[in-house]
Amino acid sequence: MSVIRVTKEFRFEMAHVLQNYDGPCRNVHGHSYILYVTISGTPIDDRKSGTNGMVMDFGELKRIVEKEITEKYDHSIVVAGYMPSDKLTDYKNLFENIIVLPCQPTCENLVADFAGILINKIPAGIKLHSLKLYETATAYAEWYASDNK
Ligand SMILES: [Zn+2]
Repeated sequence: MSVIRVTKEFRFEMAHVLQNYDGPCRNVHGHSYILYVTISGTPIDDRKSGTNGMVMDFGELKRIVEKEITEKYDHSIVVAGYMPSDKLTDYKNLFENIIVLPCQPTCENLVADFAGILINKIPAGIKLHSLKLYETATAYAEWYASDNK
């Protein structure tokens, strides 16, 4: 049986602040993110199974990614936890859905963070192959399991 890669696309709206950045992205601003999640595995070969011929049911992948990523990050403001504490307190007082990361919330760090979350949620026997996160229509960051062994 062949190993097959399967990809599902997710979209969410998110704001972030790039701490100490020398440009307009140091201000709160948002993006329409597009996340591609690619898993790999051998399609199930069991005629009695409801998921016969599938690496993983797209619906199951959707449930995992929505629960772990998009439901949390959609319409949130993501900030670096190392920003001055009075500023961080202001954000928490002003806005409802603030996500504080230990790192700068760049596209690169977000895709690595998402991979770290998803890698433990994908069922056994299926591999998280890669993630691709578009921050704008022309800019994206990728995470590959093969680069991060
Ligand atoms: Zn931005």
